[in-house]
Amino acid sequence: MSETPVTNAPIDHSHRAHALLSASSAHRWMSCPPSAVLADKFEDQSTVFAEEGTFLHELCELKLHRYLQDTDPAILEAQYRDHMDNEFYTEEAEEVTDAYVNFCVEIIEAVRASCSDPLILVEHRLDYSEYVPSGFGTGDLLIVGDGILEIVDFKGGRGVRVEAERNPQLMLYALAGLLEFDPLYDIRMIRMSIVQPRLHNTSSYEITPEDLLRWAETEVAPKAALAIAGKGEFKAGEHCRFCKARFTCRARSDYYMSLAKQDFKEADLLTDEEIADILPVAQNLAKWVEDLVSYATAQAMKGKNWPGYKLVASQTKRKYTSDADVIRACTEAGITNIYKTTLLGISDLEKAIGRKAFKDIVSPYVFKPEGKPELAPLSDKREPISSAAVDFGDSV
Ligand code: SF4
Repeated sequence: MSETPVTNAPIDHSHRAHALLSASSAHRWMSCPPSAVLADKFEDQSTVFAEEGTFLHELCELKLHRYLQDTDPAILEAQYRDHMDNEFYTEEAEEVTDAYVNFCVEIIEAVRASCSDPLILVEHRLDYSEYVPSGFGTGDLLIVGDGILEIVDFKGGRGVRVEAERNPQLMLYALAGLLEFDPLYDIRMIRMSIVQPRLHNTSSYEITPEDLLRWAETEVAPKAALAIAGKGEFKAGEHCRFCKARFTCRARSDYYMSLAKQDFKEADLLTDEEIADILPVAQNLAKWVEDLVSYATAQAMKGKNWPGYKLVASQTKRKYTSDADVIRACTEAGITNIYKTTLLGISDLEKAIGRKAFKDIVSPYVFKPEGKPELAPLSDKREPISSAAVDFGDSV
């Protein structure tokens, strides 16, 4: 085993700059190669979700360095204190990042059990430019042990569940890790894991170096060559979700408009086959309409006039200007029936009385109701439920 030094350093996220063909957007540019050049014409719009994501990654990084003891503790703790003053710092942020770090610690210790000096890299720049022009990304955690390369990626999102299986972002990280470390470490297996604590989702996927290199040669390199040249076919789908061109992209619009204009064979009713054709795209269709409305609203707020439309204030609910003022005014007027007592929600009660007391006293009275039946694609990880077991109430 090589004596490659650990190169972890105090937190510096300048390396998180994005390549045109970034790993995090690989699902998009591999599905729709010309999207890379088209999207690059639009300015980056920082969102509160992206800012929170960066903050959570930083917290994860600090906690991993704390565990690994590979950074000056004085610098580390000063940075941690700074983060505790951040607007995104909450107890929940601690829990979410703890869940990720706990997962990482398990993997680190498992690798250490079979290898005395594994290479452990946090927030490591990964270069896959051998297959993708100027391609690089940043791996949250990379471990190289005896014959194994582990890649762990943190996802702080609450929205879309992301799986590790054949995930192009992780596969590009793995490819870069393989290119960098295989000459020193004889890597025979690569495991990629995604930890998405807010969706209680952890998934892993294993691939051999041979299969990974085959994928890089047959799929990545040809698509990257098209993407960097702005060539290839535009293809709309769920990968449009994070494309900066999505609001006004003609290919995306044509795709969804063509669905609306389908030449249905039956004059009055859709056939089962037609419904089955529409189902896989229905959610993306709704997202496209939502994107279009939010783009048109943003433009109207900048002064754009859409024929037949005007800007109005949304409906709102009445609110007290100040609870304290209302309590004082009612008390002075002798009105006493102004309060109601409600039980704390499950998470708040658990926080208030502590996990152990909650488990001992309250958990016998906690249950998880059955979810309402919903349609999901076959790739969804949840177990199917039988239609015979479903009480539909009013039948449809
Ligand atoms: S919105 Fe979709 S179809 Fe249009 S360029 Fe982006 S990824 Fe391609």
